[in-house]
Amino acid sequence: MAVTLIEYAHSCQIYCYNKEYKSLETRFTDFTYLNKEENKMHFKKVKTILSAHNGMNIYRGCTHGCIYCDSRSKCYHIDHEFEDVEVKVNAPELLEEALRKKRKKCMIGTGSMCDPYMHCEIELNHTRKCLEIIDRYGFGLSILTKSDRILRDLDLLKSINEKAKCVVQLTLTTYDADLCRILEPAVSTTKRRFEVLKIMHENHIPTVVWLDPILPFINDTEENLRGILNYCIEAKVYGIICFGMGMTLREGNREYFYQKLDQHFPGLKEKYHGKYGYSYEIKSDHNEKLMRIFYEECRANGIVCSNSAIFQYLHTYEQRHDIEQISMFE
Ligand code: SF4
Repeated sequence: MAVTLIEYAHSCQIYCYNKEYKSLETRFTDFTYLNKEENKMHFKKVKTILSAHNGMNIYRGCTHGCIYCDSRSKCYHIDHEFEDVEVKVNAPELLEEALRKKRKKCMIGTGSMCDPYMHCEIELNHTRKCLEIIDRYGFGLSILTKSDRILRDLDLLKSINEKAKCVVQLTLTTYDADLCRILEPAVSTTKRRFEVLKIMHENHIPTVVWLDPILPFINDTEENLRGILNYCIEAKVYGIICFGMGMTLREGNREYFYQKLDQHFPGLKEKYHGKYGYSYEIKSDHNEKLMRIFYEECRANGIVCSNSAIFQYLHTYEQRHDIEQISMFE
């Protein structure tokens, strides 16, 4: 059953809509926050939480509204309205059970499909609970977000990184703040995400940036690329993941993207249609030139730009030597 937070806070009838999780009822007290976004969510008990490669999605669906969002694609079989976020209520319990059973420590990944720091996380603390478990069991973490809400959990990220490895990943697509607000309406601004990267670096937490997607005729400019790269250089990121200057479109996300093009960039949908038809991979006409700049800048500034090397890094668990030493002598 779905309920909007606004309804939830204003209607006492909704008080008993789900007795099992009624502890949530007292948490929604910030009416200013509630009225800003029409967030919906519903709750579901799931059977498993970790994928075969130790990735997890604590939520399914997203309220961040990025116009190019691939997670809307039909192939992911999200069987509810995308903005009506499914909260996997038993995610922390399942994660703890899974980590307790693991014979070997590894990296746990989250955020690749749905953002772990949507608005509801501030009230639900679901991601935070999972990080506490990862920290307690000494596993590593790679986490991807577009929100500065991740700073709330800096204490845990540091603690995980002191024992094992914690890599914080942020997506940066658009240097121009006004354009960013259109393309990614409910996430932290690119400048704010750059500040988050710097804070992570100051706290010795390695960072990776996803330079993806780059939308033809919209943000596929040298100015945009150099702006983002300069942020990455200044924030001393470990690596930048980039699959080329382009984007992907398939059933589900294509319709939503085109609807948004009509709303914000009249005439552009027709241009996309004419040029790319129903292609899945769409490359900017400036791909070659922009990729040359990308590689040059990364190499000149010691930023890893091989996707395979970065993925290898994200999946490699590292126990801190000093912790091992301490435990040996305990
Ligand atoms: S943050 Fe990620 S999952 Fe959420 S709307 Fe944006 S692209 Fe989609």
